[in-house]
Parts: sequence; structure tokens; C-alpha cells
Amino acid sequence: MTKTLIQGAQVLVENDSFADVSLLIEGDRIAAFLPKGETVTDAKPMDASGRIIIPGLVNGHTHSHGALARGGVPDDAILETFLSGSAWLNLGRSHDDLALCAQLSAVELIRKGCTACFDLFIELPGPTVEGTHAVAHAYHDVGLRAVVAPMIADQTIYQALPGLLDSFDGPLRNAVAAMTLPDWDSTMAICGEALRNWPVPMDRVRPGIGPTIPLHCSDPFLQRCAHLSADIDIPLQTHLAETRLQQVMAQRKFGTSLTEHLSALGILSPRFSGAHGVWLSDPEMALLAGAEAGISHNPMSNLRLGSGIAPLRRLTDAGVQTGIGTDASNTSDGQNMFEAMRLAATLSRAQTIDTAQWVRTTEAFDMATQGSARLLGFDKLGQIATGWAADLVFLDQTYCHYTPQRATLDQIVLAETGAAVREVMIAGQMVFAEDRILTLDETALRQRALAAAERITHANADARMMNAAAAEVVKGFCHRHCSANLP
Ligand SMILES: [Zn+2]
Repeated sequence: MTKTLIQGAQVLVENDSFADVSLLIEGDRIAAFLPKGETVTDAKPMDASGRIIIPGLVNGHTHSHGALARGGVPDDAILETFLSGSAWLNLGRSHDDLALCAQLSAVELIRKGCTACFDLFIELPGPTVEGTHAVAHAYHDVGLRAVVAPMIADQTIYQALPGLLDSFDGPLRNAVAAMTLPDWDSTMAICGEALRNWPVPMDRVRPGIGPTIPLHCSDPFLQRCAHLSADIDIPLQTHLAETRLQQVMAQRKFGTSLTEHLSALGILSPRFSGAHGVWLSDPEMALLAGAEAGISHNPMSNLRLGSGIAPLRRLTDAGVQTGIGTDASNTSDGQNMFEAMRLAATLSRAQTIDTAQWVRTTEAFDMATQGSARLLGFDKLGQIATGWAADLVFLDQTYCHYTPQRATLDQIVLAETGAAVREVMIAGQMVFAEDRILTLDETALRQRALAAAERITHANADARMMNAAAAEVVKGFCHRHCSANLP
């Protein structure tokens, strides 16, 4: 087993306090804290003078397919016009494209200090074993820890939202009405095969399942997802109460809130997490807490799409497991966990003048590390502690963010952007150093990305026009219904 002794840095010990200690790494784990200056004869020494070492940030919710969709979402898009208007960006993608997206996303995450993510990736018209395994291999090869969850549904947005189709007329109505997704039985058969026969070691890259939005999934489909999650013990994540319209539509479609619906179907469990949770009522939070379920707070995307500001303090007070995520690079315009963590802390200050209710920097840091790690289902991840995963981010102590350095964790949470990230270690192995990802050729990756984006844009020109026209109708529908009364 390889041993490395990291010396000379300030280390954030157990997400609590900084200490000038050496870190002994054995294999993929943190083996011990040693006093400054102590040597270990069979360990390779690594000089980390001038570095602040923190645990790698963990992204509780993202979509790798967004990496090839940058700039494709109009700046006035809301979630529902994004879903209808930007669908063209995901059409006609090969398995290589899916892997390319995971690589692009992983590279940005690592460069910005993230060492693990929960990826709900989409393959259209439906998931395949090969596509799912291509994404898993991509993360494995780059070296990022990940949960790879096919994002699946059996209803298009036009089928999912009661009354939406009636807002359309003429040829456009015929076009959106003709859209379908594969039936859930065949989708689940493929997911079962893909996830049960996992192609890479599970220590770093694991399977998950991602029914996209409860409104877009029929009840037996959701139940089958939950059964698969329980059967092979994998995390399940869905977008939960991301917009107010989703709650309005849930009342019309199910006669209950979204979370009550999921609870009645038996979907909630410790393996369950909802992404966003912006529009959750107190009874819904109690259901989530009672099931030991979690929420990934994705503040940047909620701001970008005007979804709202999630009630993070109420969620933690209710006892809901909370993590933090970026969401996709099309709806958050990047994969910056430092930004997401900072927003988690600062947005709470815009919600109340009562400072006791604010999300403190220590809490935001915990959520962005071990909080998200719990949603991913990884044990002993998200802290620098003995026996925990050796997923470490090395920050440059001489960078302007820490000059002067008075309150290190506050400065990391409130100032860091990723600009001071100098090295990243995942599972005891360096994956980023000297401004270079060590596990792939970034220049070649960029060339492949540009070529794929051009091909996708060209091939989907007709779909893009149709999507844009449909999004206009969806926008009108949302404006008419999103303010409807909720119980
Ligand atoms: Zn999402």
C-alpha cells in the first residue's frame, strides 16, 4: 500500500479547526495525524508548505449533460421553459458524447475543488446500458468520485402537466402531442441491467437512479425506482418542489403536495434525496425528516431560473439531511461548489434579519462536504479524519483570499472561488497539480467538446426552432398558473 506523508500545511481537522500537522495517507485513506516534523520511514514525503488543506467539496446534485449545453439556455428561462425550450441540446448524443460530458464536468469540478458528485445524466430517448456504462467509465478514468444515475421519466412535460397540452393549437400542438418517452417497464429493465452489472470498481464510481421529476413519472414507475434502489442499495434522487408551479400541478394531478404523494407511494427512505426543495411546506419537511431523507440545496440554479430561495434553515430545523449542489452547467453556468457553498451561507441572510436563523459558515461547509456525501451514500467522506477518504483540496495560503488570514474557514466559505486551488487528491491519488488535470489531456478534450457541440447544434436546428416556439406557449401557461392558491 502506498504511503504519503503530507507535511507543512495547515489542515482543517474534522471540519472543526485548523492545525499545523502532517497527514499520513495510506492507500485511499487518511491513516493518521502526526506532529509537525515527525517522519515515517516508508512514506513518500510531500511538501505542502504554504497550503491550507480542506476536504474535497462534494456536489450533491448535478447533470453532466449540461457541460455541452453551455450558453444554450436563454437568460430569461424559467425551469419549465428550459425543459421545453432547451430539449434540443440533448438530442442525438452518442455514448461518446455522454462520456465526453462527464469528462468535461469532472474536469471543471476538480479544478474548482470538488472531489465527488451526484450526476443525474440524461440519454434520449431513453437510457441504455452502454451509455450508462460510458459515463461510469468516464468518471473512473478521470478519477472523480461519483454517483452515476440515469435520469428517467415516462411522461414528457406536455403529458406531465395537467392542462398544458390544451394551451397549444395547430401544428405545434400536433408536434408536442406526438412526443413520447419509452414506457417505464422497458426503461426499468435497462436500468436494472445497467446498474446491477456495474462496469467499474464501486469504491469511487457507483450507480444511482434518478426519476427526473415526480410529475413526469407514473406511480408504478416511481415505485419500481424505489424498489431497485432498495434492492441493490443505491441512492435515488429526484427534483423535488423545485418550482412553485410543480406544487400547483401536484395538487391538480395528485390532490396532495409532491412529498405527500411520494410518501404515500413509499418512495421516501434514507436512500432518497430531493434536489432543490424550494417550495416545501412544514408537513413535507417532517415527512422527509421522518424518513431520514435528504435535500440537495442548489442555490445558483434556483437564482438563475428564478425558482426562489430554498428554506434551508427550516429544512435543518426540521431534521432533513442537507447537502449542497451546483446543478448543471447550462442552468448554473458552471460547476463551482465554492460558489454554491457561499450562496448557501449568504442567501439565508437575505431571508431574515434574525441572525440566529442565518446559515453559518461552519454549517455551509459541513453541508458542502459530509452533508452532500451522505446524499451520495458514501461513508467516511467529507472530513479530514482518521480512517476517512483521502480526498483533499490544497489551497494557496499566499493567494489574496487569505492575505491577511484571520478567520480561515470564514474566508474559505465567504471568499474562495476555486482560484486558490493548487492541488487536488482523490482517494489518495493526485488528480490535479501545476494547473493541469493529471488524468486526461485537456487540450484534446476541448477540441472534442467544440466538435461535438457544433455537430449537435447543426443536427438539431429544426428541433431547436420547435422547442423555442413551444417554450413561448409553456411560458404563458406558467404565468397563468404558477400563482394559484396552495393549501
Ligand atoms: Zn437538476
